Amino acid sequence: MTPSARNTPADAEIVADVVIVGAGMAGATLALALAAGNLSCVLVDSRPFEALTAPDFDGRASAISFAAWRGWRVLGAVGALEPHAQRIEQILVTDGRAPGASVRRPSGAWLRFDSAEIAGRNGGEPLGYLIENRHIRAALAQAVLASRVQVIAPGKAAQISREAGGVTVTLEDGRRLKGSLLVGADGKASRVRQDAGIGTAGWNYGDTGVVATVRINRDHEGVAYEHFLPGGPFAILPLTGRRASLVWTEKKARGAALIRASPEAFEAHLRRRFGAFLGQVEAEGPRFAYPLGLQIADSLTAYRTALIGDAAHSVHPIAGQGLNMGLKDAAALAEVLIEAARLGEDLGAAVVLDRYARWRGVDNMGVALATDAFTRLFATDHPLVRTVRDAGMAVVNRIGAARRMFMAEAGGASGDLPRLLRGESV
Ligand SMILES: Cc1cc2nc3c(=O)[nH]c(=O)nc-3n(C[C@H](O)[C@H](O)[C@H](O)COP(=O)(O)OP(=O)(O)OC[C@H]3O[C@@H](n4cnc5c(N)ncnc54)[C@H](O)[C@@H]3O)c2cc1C
Repeated sequence: MTPSARNTPADAEIVADVVIVGAGMAGATLALALAAGNLSCVLVDSRPFEALTAPDFDGRASAISFAAWRGWRVLGAVGALEPHAQRIEQILVTDGRAPGASVRRPSGAWLRFDSAEIAGRNGGEPLGYLIENRHIRAALAQAVLASRVQVIAPGKAAQISREAGGVTVTLEDGRRLKGSLLVGADGKASRVRQDAGIGTAGWNYGDTGVVATVRINRDHEGVAYEHFLPGGPFAILPLTGRRASLVWTEKKARGAALIRASPEAFEAHLRRRFGAFLGQVEAEGPRFAYPLGLQIADSLTAYRTALIGDAAHSVHPIAGQGLNMGLKDAAALAEVLIEAARLGEDLGAAVVLDRYARWRGVDNMGVALATDAFTRLFATDHPLVRTVRDAGMAVVNRIGAARRMFMAEAGGASGDLPRLLRGESV
């Protein structure tokens, strides 16, 4: 928390260009980008800022595209992230009845993406980086606290009012936050989205993503594995040191049983599912369960309001795109607002918000629908579907241009990239 925000009296009025509700990874990135463009903002979160970085708050690791990494470099967050960032050199996708395919000896239908293939275009960047969320949150928090962003956490919005002159968020303790624009970066159950009357469309897959960190006794060589098994996708994502983050998709009841299982029983299941190709495996730290579904907001904007991150869209983690989409939203919205301020426009004006909605709406919808199609294609063990998808994987695997297109998409380098994600200052 910045000293100025911590010391504000309970009846104080804090005025900024933009009020951001939600200091998660998307909200914090937007705050940093706005500050870099000399716009003032206040970042509010219902939980204490320090709690968001505690190891037991979020046990996930995220595959971060190299484009998002470039953006964080510009915003000064990469120094603190570097010691915890594992380069993803290869992605190996297998469609089989048992795990255990290795990079040298893949079994069944498989697809391999290799960063060496795009090294010429990428300047030696990997396919992406795998970083534990707690380290991302801590690095962003450190950068935010060193910036001019005002942070109020904990702070809970009690009332939101939008008027011609601007927006006012009144917190439960009476403090009032005033700005030209309100940004909802407050996650899947966004209060800002509901308050603005923006509906959502979507569905649950009935699956749970069980997340755990494991220690392995062989080098993973920076390879991310996605095994499509009859029970659901099983991802083994390389972390720094001889560690990996697992995202183990199971039907709801089985997922709950895995969370409840004793450490011995969990490890026994794990060994059966994991196979022997990475040597011995040992669970480390707590397990976490996430219900999996698709949710898309009907609109990215409303009167003096914009949504970013999971408040706008939440997708299945199968392709590691959710946070990357949110970071693209943050970079695009910051660019639109900084440009509008230079032109002397009202940051909350519909004409300004329309530019953001047009920029990100189609891309978000495309990624969400592609992720959904991918999830459904690999959710079935029907022999006919399996034959067709295995043939598709074989075709992509043989065509260099197709592989490079998938790599550009996964690396976040496709489409109309905001300046920040091209590594340029805002
Ligand atoms: C198992 C799993 C694995 C994943 N792996 C990847 C991956 O590899 N790559 C990837 O790109 N994505 C991945 N994702 C998706 C990614 O985790 C999310 O997209 C991302 O965390 C969303 O960030 P956010 O900042 O938008 O929202 P959140 O992280 O939900 O942050 C919202 C913030 O708002 C605050 N808040 C909520 N309500 C209020 C309120 N009323 N007032 C004030 N503050 C409030 C919360 O305290 C929180 O800090 C994965 C998801 C899952 C489930």
